[in-house]
Amino acid sequence: MEYRRLGTSGLKVSALSFGSWVTFGEQVDEEAAAACMKAAREAGVNFFDNAEGYAQGKAESVMGAIIRKSGWKRSDLVISTKIFWGGKGPNDMGLSRKHIFEGLEASLRRLQLDYVDLVFCHRPDKETPIEETVRAMSRIVDMGLAFYWGTSEWRAEDIRTAYALARREHLVPPTMEQAQYNMFHRERVEKEYRRLYEDIGLGTTTWSPLASGYLSGKYLRGFPEGSRLSLRGYGWLRKRFEGSEGAEKLAKVKKLVKVAAGLGVTLPQLAIAWCLRTPGVSTVITGASRPEQVKENMKALDAVRLLTGDVLARIEKILGNSPEPEPDFRS
Ligand code: NDP
Repeated sequence: MEYRRLGTSGLKVSALSFGSWVTFGEQVDEEAAAACMKAAREAGVNFFDNAEGYAQGKAESVMGAIIRKSGWKRSDLVISTKIFWGGKGPNDMGLSRKHIFEGLEASLRRLQLDYVDLVFCHRPDKETPIEETVRAMSRIVDMGLAFYWGTSEWRAEDIRTAYALARREHLVPPTMEQAQYNMFHRERVEKEYRRLYEDIGLGTTTWSPLASGYLSGKYLRGFPEGSRLSLRGYGWLRKRFEGSEGAEKLAKVKKLVKVAAGLGVTLPQLAIAWCLRTPGVSTVITGASRPEQVKENMKALDAVRLLTGDVLARIEKILGNSPEPEPDFRS
């Protein structure tokens, strides 16, 4: 495993990490979840991701029970949670000072932990002033309930505002952003946040490297029973892979399968390696419903060296979605 600094912080996270969305507390039982975490840990993963909203808190309870039974040393682990969707009540949601404190306390109880290493604002909250959120997150860190705080799917402009406000008020600034990043979804990590990596030392914990499994190639002949895109309640997700948009993605996957085979790797390995080589990516959070998938995906680290300029150009030609670079008026 390779360990990378989370932005310019002193924290080291495994370049490949493991998350619990859809799977823990919902799709798979605790035994299967434990087998996945164990396979990840054996491959050197130290960072495990969660959120208060995953399976209405059950994902945290499952992860907490697994960690407790594992015998792993707490200091060897980097555990995160995300706060926003804590329930249906008017104060159970969002980034108010009240919900940040109450939400995190409930998360820590479910995880059976005294602190998380990372806590994220799971989405921006239109109804709470950024200053209220920054002050609450800063206080959370001061109290030792989390070591670092960050955002998820925030606009660069809002991250910069939060950072500047924290600096001005001598508060703890955000360290990292958790953003979607995969071959189909590139704009934010490759373009929008680019200046933040240098200007404020932002780290990224990127998610859905396989676009919910679509970039594994297993959806070439429809939606197999038991796979994520066939699950009840995930029709909204499947929609992104149907119709004309879906046909376009499918055509790309067909070509990418051939590129991967030519390199002697699987498409999941190629797709994850492709994320790993992007500047600004601190860790790629993988997901899996079975330990065999974890083992396959962890080998993506070995595939990074296969991504020569020529291979990347071939992939780029297939994807055809590279963000337009900022104009350079000096050249
Ligand atoms: P992926 O895009 O990699 O999708 C993972 C799913 O793809 C697995 O659960 C499995 O589903 C399938 N899969 C994985 N590996 C393989 C393989 N080798 N072959 C075939 N199928 C495979 O990642 P996730 O969408 O799960 O995201 C990863 C993590 O990122 C989450 O767990 C969460 O921690 C975080 N996240 C954060 C978000 C945020 O808003 N901040 C949003 C979403 C995720 P199956 O077997 O069921 O088909």
